[in-house]
Amino acid sequence: MVTQLLSEVTSPVQIKRSNRQIAIIPFETYDLSEFRDSLDAASIIFDLEPNFSSDAFITSDFSEAETQRKQRDAVRVIQAASTILKASDENPKYALVVTKQDIFATRFNFVFGLANHSLGVGLISTARLTEWHDGISPAQMKERVLKEAAHEIGHLGGLVHCEKETCLMAFSETIEKVDKKLPMLCEDCRRKLKTSGR
Ligand SMILES: [Zn+2]
Ligand SMILES: [Zn+2]
Repeated sequence: MVTQLLSEVTSPVQIKRSNRQIAIIPFETYDLSEFRDSLDAASIIFDLEPNFSSDAFITSDFSEAETQRKQRDAVRVIQAASTILKASDENPKYALVVTKQDIFATRFNFVFGLANHSLGVGLISTARLTEWHDGISPAQMKERVLKEAAHEIGHLGGLVHCEKETCLMAFSETIEKVDKKLPMLCEDCRRKLKTSGR
């Protein structure tokens, strides 16, 4: 009887996690409070509830290419994040990793972000989004982070690139293209999102 009670007390509480949550996690040491509003807004566009963990972070060891290039490999970071998250208690359906380190991906010298739809993990780098040139204001930097975070979350939700240059899902290989985007989905993408049945 006593054993029975004890096991009841100590057994892990089953918390039903909502599929509408997205974990927002820093890569290594990065205080995300500066961009909290941007990351909140990016999640809300997709009707997701951002979940900022206070102490969790993602890390991965350096590959030879990463050491040479002084950049992180977005594909490796996403893989590492997926492995870490799968092993964690929370194992969220969606996660967005945020790094201040510059990232590259396969055939691109650099990217602002990358997402793996099947793993449910996206990554953005604020390195180039926060570069201070042409008198860019902190508000503009925050908007860039919002847009690129939302873009990667859009991929997690099953959206692909959009031809409309003002749409969040437009592919941006330059900062000018990021700045051209509006912080919203075009009507086509909004419709696709509704029917993608996440
Ligand atoms: Zn994209
Ligand atoms: Zn679109």
